[in-house]
Amino acid sequence: MKEAKDIPASCLKCGFCLNVCPVYKELKEEITSPRGKLRQIKALKEGELTSEKMLRKVLKNCLMCGACFKNCPSSLSTPFAIQKLREELFQKYGHDFVKRGMKFVMNNNKARSLSALWARIVFNNFRDSLPFDLPAGALTVKNMPLLAAPLKAVDFKNNGGKKVFYYAGCVDKYLFGDTGRSAVRVLNKLGYDVMISKDEKCCGIPMIISGDIKAVKENAKENIELLTRQYYDYVVFTCPTCLTAFKEKYFDIFKDDPVYKRKLTELEPKLIEITQLLAREKNLGQMLKETGLKVTYHDPCHMVNSLNAVKEPRAVINAIPGINYVEMNPERAAACCGSGGFYHVYFPGISSKLGSKKVDNIKKTGAEIVLTACPACKLQLGGSLKKNGSEIKAMHIIELLDKYLK
Ligand code: SF4
Ligand code: SF4
Repeated sequence: MKEAKDIPASCLKCGFCLNVCPVYKELKEEITSPRGKLRQIKALKEGELTSEKMLRKVLKNCLMCGACFKNCPSSLSTPFAIQKLREELFQKYGHDFVKRGMKFVMNNNKARSLSALWARIVFNNFRDSLPFDLPAGALTVKNMPLLAAPLKAVDFKNNGGKKVFYYAGCVDKYLFGDTGRSAVRVLNKLGYDVMISKDEKCCGIPMIISGDIKAVKENAKENIELLTRQYYDYVVFTCPTCLTAFKEKYFDIFKDDPVYKRKLTELEPKLIEITQLLAREKNLGQMLKETGLKVTYHDPCHMVNSLNAVKEPRAVINAIPGINYVEMNPERAAACCGSGGFYHVYFPGISSKLGSKKVDNIKKTGAEIVLTACPACKLQLGGSLKKNGSEIKAMHIIELLDKYLK
């Protein structure tokens, strides 16, 4: 991949990225397109930009989905160039209050756990009794799912199975613990010996893409230490965005640190998204019950644009005997659902429109369930479906597999 400083000047201005950028497709404003963003960055670097305020606004209006990178004939990573400039701008302007709050919670395991407990008690008790609805990013409070009990730490049973460290990530650990428990049951059924650690730290991706690398470095080091302290055959993820932090972002953070660079290089081949691991299992179908359910699949951006995991989730779904799998129009299956980290908080209007478009495409398939492989997509899809009056449910693939385990 090109150095961030060389990306803006290398743009051919061909416009291929415009056809795939969800923000540009919604706003139709050149300045918000990947090409327009690169032009703005170049202008800033060449001293031709008069308003830094405008540039900050433009750079914020990016889902960091990576679709532009994937479709650029020159392999230019606009999100990487944006992230690097955000790092510079962060030094000057710092975080707004939303991110200051998130930073405190994410960097502290006790605060993460207490905030999740508090959110679960308040939200689960009051969601349905509220006499009115309230906006919550692109969704509304009444369209959000109830929160599940957190995932508890589990130690190895030393039963001879391959050793899997399950890195659950903040969402599946604290908010959607049911997804994590499904992952453990499915892995156990396949004979894996699974461990979950209470010492797992937030991967830091919300802070990384906000340009606050300093806030992430210690967490990242502790995560790398945790995952290299003892032997694991695999480190499995149910969140592709967390996996992207380890596989891409940490390498950039530690590029000048020989110790952590070496540890990461040794760790990297063991890091795997859960459907990528399950797709290798020849006996997966035999341990699942038959179902005639009609389902479709939504590709999370990081699965497609960072991990190149397109075939594996589909292979895993189709391993369920009798399942009626309907493909969405491929271009639409991979279109961003509009969640995008903090994006749905800052740009709820665009995020909501992208969610509704996704709902229309899901409905066209006639599926009863839309499956996905990312907890944030599951939240956005489920909430958008409910908001649009649909009965279709959103599930992580691993939850469906768990439901049909023999
Ligand atoms: S596709 Fe790549 S080279 Fe073409 S305009 Fe977009 S960023 Fe520039
Ligand atoms: S990362 Fe996604 S939203 Fe951002 S410029 Fe590229 S295609 Fe557009």
